[in-house]
Amino acid sequence: HQGVLKGLVGLPTVTHDGVEIKLCANIGQTADALAAANVKADGVGLYRTEFVFLVQDHFPSEDEQYQFYRATAEHLQPAQTVIRVLDVGSDKPLSYFPLPPEANPAMGFRGIRLLLAHPGLLHTQLRAILRLSATHSVAILLPMIDGIDDLRAAKAAIDHAKAQVVAAGQSFDPLIPVGAMIETPSAAILIEQLADEVDFFSVGSNDLVQFLLAADRIRGEMKSTYDPLHPAVLRVLATLARVARRKGTPISLCGEIANDPSYTNLLIGLGFRSFSVSPGRLLDIKHAIRSTDVQQAEKLAGQVLSVHSTRDIRALVQDDWNRRR
Ligand code: PEP
Ligand code: MG
Repeated sequence: HQGVLKGLVGLPTVTHDGVEIKLCANIGQTADALAAANVKADGVGLYRTEFVFLVQDHFPSEDEQYQFYRATAEHLQPAQTVIRVLDVGSDKPLSYFPLPPEANPAMGFRGIRLLLAHPGLLHTQLRAILRLSATHSVAILLPMIDGIDDLRAAKAAIDHAKAQVVAAGQSFDPLIPVGAMIETPSAAILIEQLADEVDFFSVGSNDLVQFLLAADRIRGEMKSTYDPLHPAVLRVLATLARVARRKGTPISLCGEIANDPSYTNLLIGLGFRSFSVSPGRLLDIKHAIRSTDVQQAEKLAGQVLSVHSTRDIRALVQDDWNRRR
C-alpha cells in the first residue's frame, strides 16, 4: 500500500470522474511544512501558529514570528500558506502568559476572543504575517469567530496592523485574503452573512462537532457521543458547503474528519471540494479521492441524509468504504 501511495505524489488530485479537489496540509512546526511539500500538497490550509508560541519562554517578537512564518511558507512556495492567528487559551497554556483558570476552557477565553482582548499581541502577529505577504503567498485565518461583531473587530485589527506596517516603511500584499474558521454553531448558522465579509472559510470540524453535540472532544468517555457522523453534524456540513458555493466563497474542511479516508466519499457527496489534512494522511486521502465518483458520492450523501440514526449512518458509510476499498 505504501508503494501505491508514493506513486500518487506527482498525480493530480481529481476524482475518478475528473472533478478537481484541492488537497492542502495542516501543519504546526516548520518540519511539517517540509513533509507537506514532500507529498506535494496544494498548499497549507491550516498553519496552527500555537507551536511558534509554545516552544518559546517569551512572546516571540514580530521579527521572530516573521522568521518562523517565512521559513514555513518558503517550503510551499508558490502555493499558499494559510496562517491562523494564535488560538491558545487556558487548555493550551503559555507559561509566560498567565490566564485565570477556567472551568470550561474550550468555551472560554481563547482564539479571537483572547486576541481581541490583547490587541498588542494580535497586532504584532498580524504585522509579521502582513510583512511576509509582500513576498510570499499567505492568507490570514481567524479562529473561533462566533459572529459578525468579532469578525469585524478582527478585520479592524488587520487594518490597524496594515497602517502600522506602512508607518514602519514596510510593504504587504493589499489583497491578502482573510478567512474565518467555522467552528462554532453560531458561525455555522451565520455562514451566509459571514460570507459577505470574508474571502474564504475553513471548517474546523473538531470544535464544531464538540459544540454542536455538546460533547468534549478530548475526554475519552465522550468518544461515543462525540461522533462526526451524527446526522445533525452532517446536515450542518451539507448546508455550509451549499451556502458557501452559492455565495462563491471558497470553503475548505480542515478538522480531523477530513483525515479519515472512509469519510472522503461522503464529504465530497456533501459538497466539499477542498480539504486540509495532516501531511502523513495526505496520500491516503488522495487515494480515496481518486477512487471517488462524484455522482456516486452524492448518492451516498443523499442516502445518509435520509436516515436519522448515527448507527445507521455509520453502517452506510462503512459499507460504502468496504465496497470501494
Ligand atoms: C478544529 O477545531 O477543527 C480545528 C481545525 O482547529 P483545532 O483542532 O486547532 O482546534
Ligand atoms: Mg478549533
